[in-house]
Amino acid sequence: MRFCPGPNKLFSLLKKARSAVGVAAASASASSSFTSSSFSAAAPKLTSAMDELQALKTKVCIIGSGPAAHTAAIYAARAELKPILFEGWMANDIAPGGQLTTTSDVENFPGFPDGILGMELMDRCRSQSVRFGTQIFTETVSKVDFSATPFKIYTDAKTVQADTVIVATGAVAKRLVFPGSGDGKGGFWNRGISACAVCDGAAPIFRNKPLAVIGGGDSAMEEATFLTKYGSEVNIIHRREAFRASKIMQNRALSNPKIKVMWNSEVVEAYGDGEKGPLAGLKVKNVVTGEVTDLKVSGLFFAIGHEPATKFLDGQLELHPDGYVKTKPGTTETSVRGVFAAGDVQDKKYRQAVTAAGTGCMAALEAEHYLQEMGSQEGKSD
Ligand SMILES: Cc1cc2nc3c(=O)[nH]c(=O)nc-3n(C[C@H](O)[C@H](O)[C@H](O)COP(=O)(O)OP(=O)(O)OC[C@H]3O[C@@H](n4cnc5c(N)ncnc54)[C@H](O)[C@@H]3O)c2cc1C
Repeated sequence: MRFCPGPNKLFSLLKKARSAVGVAAASASASSSFTSSSFSAAAPKLTSAMDELQALKTKVCIIGSGPAAHTAAIYAARAELKPILFEGWMANDIAPGGQLTTTSDVENFPGFPDGILGMELMDRCRSQSVRFGTQIFTETVSKVDFSATPFKIYTDAKTVQADTVIVATGAVAKRLVFPGSGDGKGGFWNRGISACAVCDGAAPIFRNKPLAVIGGGDSAMEEATFLTKYGSEVNIIHRREAFRASKIMQNRALSNPKIKVMWNSEVVEAYGDGEKGPLAGLKVKNVVTGEVTDLKVSGLFFAIGHEPATKFLDGQLELHPDGYVKTKPGTTETSVRGVFAAGDVQDKKYRQAVTAAGTGCMAALEAEHYLQEMGSQEGKSD
């Protein structure tokens, strides 16, 4: 982890980086919706013309903009399916490009032996989607109708009718808020605080240093155990007096000599080494006694769960109780034939960029096969 620009800077960098396709499309849609609503009473013919302009049709509509969505777009576009992709407009507070835009170095994506900035990786993915003809709109999908084909996808400015849909809206890693937890001035997000041990644990700033993990579920046990490979010790900070992780995961963690547990505890502050130094420690409060102790650590990992971005589906796909889209094992098929799901929105286990990209590829190939079966396109694959 190195320097990571704050969200506003990221956002303005992103806006500059958007290619003409998305920007032109987004601004065209914005102006056309203004025109139609402003002049609807006086010029009904113009209104219906504008409405038609906004009603698009496609064989494949992809919702999302992380590695899953762009991999699906690259495959679908190369198969000449002319996909339409909605990359979102700060959907769930995440910039187009997805979760990797919130981190700095990505060191485990194959093909980049020296690592690559998350932002740059996603801009490259986007350029590759555009290169093969994906039409990208910087709009958030607010509603879908999967009750009949063609499926309907709605944003504030458009309706798309699609023969197939790939849902790749990802998930958001939950973060706690306390002094020093943010990415602004005085915050240690990406400078010692992370939400992904597998992604960041091997960074030099954590090697042979005391670390901490917040959480009490399976992910927290897994992340803490994983981090013992790198840290000198790992402190699990948990606000209750028992974990909710499965017994087997708890036992694995608790029997590891490098792992200690602070029960009934919550972090109330993260502080640094001097004004500009990295994370140096945490103030941890015992919620039963109220006592605040000082824990010297160089790394803190949130392992308090993820929230998959599935609300806009409004119950039209079968979900797991924790909100992830259910897919048929070994495929990206959802409960609705012709609708596929890829990436973190359907993966609570691996949650990595490369696995998201892998399922994005699967979704595009499965969509293509579905279209062939439906007879809406001549078989054509790379
Ligand atoms: C801090 C951090 C560091 C990480 N580091 C690494 C790493 O080093 N290596 C690694 O392999 N993995 C890493 N990961 C995990 C990796 O980022 C994810 O596994 C991966 O990004 C998931 O990709 P995805 O395509 O499923 O979707 P996401 O990356 O989650 O992107 C989904 C996108 O869809 C958009 N969206 C959501 N709803 C809508 C909607 N209704 N309409 C339109 N768009 C919508 C979102 O705004 C978002 O931009 C990290 C994650 C985090 C949080």
